[in-house]
Amino acid sequence: MQRLSITEENYLKAIYKITSRELKGASTNAIADELNTRAASVTDMLRKLSDKQLIHYKKYQGVTLTELGRLTALSIVRRHRLWEVFLVKKLHFGWDEIHDIAEELEHVSDPRFINRLAEYLGNPTADPHGDPIPTEAGELPTNNQVLLAKLEVGEQAEVMAVFEHSTAFLQYLDQVELNLGKSITVLEKLEFDQSMRVRFGNGRELQISREVARSIFVKR
Ligand SMILES: [Zn+2]
Repeated sequence: MQRLSITEENYLKAIYKITSRELKGASTNAIADELNTRAASVTDMLRKLSDKQLIHYKKYQGVTLTELGRLTALSIVRRHRLWEVFLVKKLHFGWDEIHDIAEELEHVSDPRFINRLAEYLGNPTADPHGDPIPTEAGELPTNNQVLLAKLEVGEQAEVMAVFEHSTAFLQYLDQVELNLGKSITVLEKLEFDQSMRVRFGNGRELQISREVARSIFVKR
């Protein structure tokens, strides 16, 4: 695998994240949003990544990853999620404190080092947010998870993982006790803002915004 700059790695990861949620090409604006940067600087970097055969980039169409780009993105995701396990399991951080630290650590890429880290952690298959850890070969365990937003009224599901790792989002989930492993039933979906009302196993009800429903993975 070719050596990439930290910025290039962050772009690949952002494109991977966006395309895995939307299942279509990532727009320049979505990438700029994800990376908190301006659309103009995104365009420059996309040209660079395209020259390195990491992405398919045609102006005005969404960006998608090439096979090489996908494998590279998965190896960054692997490093990120292994570090999150390390931070929780070995250094006893909370699940809401680890993402930003892992964002820095993920750029250490020596494969021998990363494999030893995985071994040291007992080769975990999921990170503390419930997200699967890709193997060294770039395989992701299939887990039949769907976004909470995809559920219909009346459907019941278990909370499996979170899509967003930001401190604010995870603290919100802790606050409303919408944690991994919880069972929920969709009571109502509002057409106009795509928010939903859900009920927990113990009868408690909660109103969930569209953004939250799009940031949680569940299993039916
Ligand atoms: Zn994270």
